[in-house]
Amino acid sequence: MINDANAIWQEMLSKLEVEVYSLGFDVWIKPLRPVKIEDGVLILSTATATSRNEVAAKYMPLFKAILRRIDGAPSDIAIVSDDEDGVPAPAPIAHHEEPPRNEYGTINPKYNFENFVVGKCNELSAAAARAVAEAPGQVYNPLFIYGGVGLGKTHLMHAIGNEVKMSTSNLKIMYVSSKTFLNEFIESIRTASGGSNQAFREKYRSIDLLMIDDVQFIAKKPSTQEEIFHIFEELQNSGKQMVFASDRPPQDIPDLDDRVRSRFMSSLVVDVQPPDLETRIAILQRKAQDAKVNIADAPLEYIAERVTGSIREMEGVLTKVIFLAKLRGSKVDLNICAEALKDYRVQECDEITADEIIDCTCRYFNVQKADVVGKKKNKEVVEPRQVAIYLINELMTLPLASIGEFFGGREHTTVMHARDKISAALVSDQKMRTAVNDIKAMVLRK
Ligand code: ADP
Ligand code: MG
Repeated sequence: MINDANAIWQEMLSKLEVEVYSLGFDVWIKPLRPVKIEDGVLILSTATATSRNEVAAKYMPLFKAILRRIDGAPSDIAIVSDDEDGVPAPAPIAHHEEPPRNEYGTINPKYNFENFVVGKCNELSAAAARAVAEAPGQVYNPLFIYGGVGLGKTHLMHAIGNEVKMSTSNLKIMYVSSKTFLNEFIESIRTASGGSNQAFREKYRSIDLLMIDDVQFIAKKPSTQEEIFHIFEELQNSGKQMVFASDRPPQDIPDLDDRVRSRFMSSLVVDVQPPDLETRIAILQRKAQDAKVNIADAPLEYIAERVTGSIREMEGVLTKVIFLAKLRGSKVDLNICAEALKDYRVQECDEITADEIIDCTCRYFNVQKADVVGKKKNKEVVEPRQVAIYLINELMTLPLASIGEFFGGREHTTVMHARDKISAALVSDQKMRTAVNDIKAMVLRK
């Protein structure tokens, strides 16, 4: 057992930072302080009872799940607040909880079908996931879910896990990221005598429901792919259910072994798309209800109209809005929403410049910047130009007329045309969606 509360908390922070939306991380998690470890319970403190209850309601299951992933860590966690009288008493929500026996990896109880809002954008994926959960290994095996960041893929996988856990308690369920899967695999070869990965294969062979998230990262590791292919084949032949998620469809994952690719492609491949306005509003209503906060329709619509990207992002804004309302001791109203969104936009365009967007676009399409901002009209430069214009419009708050300035003083009608052209292409053209997503990721990563 590690006895240093601080060391464990640092380790937890590094894992939490990856899993929690950054705003939630800054607002709720960073302010926590490790106090001590007592009777196998890691005790954290926070300033007020209100924030303690918030953090506990939001993150306790995740904290526990993460704690279980740290070797030698205490088995439980409690949060106390500084503003309460007397000796810090463990928070009421803390109780000892054995890790479920038939589960490797962690199924997050927070994500289920009941709280997954279904709209046009995800109805196919949701239906397929439900069907799989009801009859694992019998229909749609494997199931392959793809789509952009923060659109609910991971949520659906956990929902399958939770559903299966509830209905058929004796099935072994495993959810892993492809990185964990690969690392374990490589580790098993490294430590086994004679380079055998027998233990690894044994372990995976005993799984009834295997879910691997973000399989796009399986790419670029050719040496492991053959083995992975065999494992998939074995599992499938013995009627075990597999579910994969990826940010792109199998045919667009680069450097993938042909056999692994064809295995993916022979899956039922379904996608999640960005939600339309109505679905975004429904999701916000659901999240507010889950957070037990009463919010009128108008503020929710206000947020849904403005935050159109990922659902994770929208959730982050909602968290901030709720936080600000608590801070001000007022109801969530349009003023508070505007305040939250003002920061959100400023944050975004502070960091991003048009030049960066143009640079990333040029790198992606492998074209010269001078051509893209210049007069040439051949297809090879027109498309990158339109994509750059589209992204500048999306990621920055600039009048259309000044966007034209970056491209040799083009008219705002040209800018509008480019923007609309790419918007339309995004609906029907998978290559374009991949390109725009990848470039956006490049820009935002800077
Ligand atoms: P992805 O794995 O596609 O990047 P996640 O599954 O992690 O996205 O979803 C990001 C956040 O958005 C999660 O908090 C999830 O609960 C929420 N979310 C996504 N889609 C929905 C939905 N249809 N209904 C409710 N919440 C959703
Ligand atoms: Mg995910």
